[in-house]
Amino acid sequence: AGSGKFFVGGNWKCNGTKESISKLVSDLNSVKLEADVDVVVSPPFVYIDQVKNSLTDRIEISGQNSWIGKGGAFTGEISVEQLKDIGCTWVILGHSERRHVIGEDDSFIGKKAAYALSQDLKVMACIGEKLEERESGKTFDVCFQQMKALAGTCPTPPTRISFPGHSVRCQKPTVVHISLLHWIITRQPSSIRYLHFIQIAETHNISNWDNVVIAYEPVWAIGTGKVASPQQAQEVHVAVRDWLKKNVSAEVASKTRIIYGGSVNGGNCAELAKEEDIDGFLVGGASLKGPEFATIVNSVT
Ligand code: PEP
Repeated sequence: AGSGKFFVGGNWKCNGTKESISKLVSDLNSVKLEADVDVVVSPPFVYIDQVKNSLTDRIEISGQNSWIGKGGAFTGEISVEQLKDIGCTWVILGHSERRHVIGEDDSFIGKKAAYALSQDLKVMACIGEKLEERESGKTFDVCFQQMKALAGTCPTPPTRISFPGHSVRCQKPTVVHISLLHWIITRQPSSIRYLHFIQIAETHNISNWDNVVIAYEPVWAIGTGKVASPQQAQEVHVAVRDWLKKNVSAEVASKTRIIYGGSVNGGNCAELAKEEDIDGFLVGGASLKGPEFATIVNSVT
């Protein structure tokens, strides 16, 4: 683990009953958790209130998803405002089951992240490649594309943005930098009527990274019992940190926690936690067992 505070999230997914959740909460209330670790659990929506009313305040509560904007006529959705109202401080967004089973795309997830952060709900943003993508050498490309969509929005490609005496051709999704916007305002004020194009490109989904944790979760490792080796995880975490350094800032790269998820359990967590760039875990199956979840929390090195 690196220098940031270790972070362990438990994703209970669509599991549990009032009775089993009451037992899990009472186990979590009685285990010993290392003090210097952020611990968050994410119950199914319908049990959040029950968990909030019975779980120790030592553990924060997260939603497993949230809507892209203010609540209203969106049947079946859960709004950020509602999550906050019942005591959630976090939300998991972009989980692979939402991406690949439910069909959420990068841009939808980016909008959700933007809205949650705008309302001060902290975000665990998940990224990760499928097995065939890893096998065809596309792991970094996939993770970087998902990071890019989280970090900013882009015009739909191919897009020509024209200004008198200046033209930008975006062959693929491109974030147009603020320096170009500045150049236009100062040097080409008459082109102001074209500025709405640039503003779209400059709307960053994540402009404040303080409330974001990135969860690297290779899809082939989630719920399969097939954990990434510490080296495989570390390699991707380093690459994602480097992406943040090049595309956001060195400061954000060094302080953003990058946690690993994918079949983490009480037996493999200690080895993974030794890696310099693994700042914690997002845990599915093993988070449904209080004592094992505590072992994972306490694997902080
Ligand atoms: C997850 O759902 O985020 C996850 C990592 O699941 P599991 O630990 O069961 O692989």
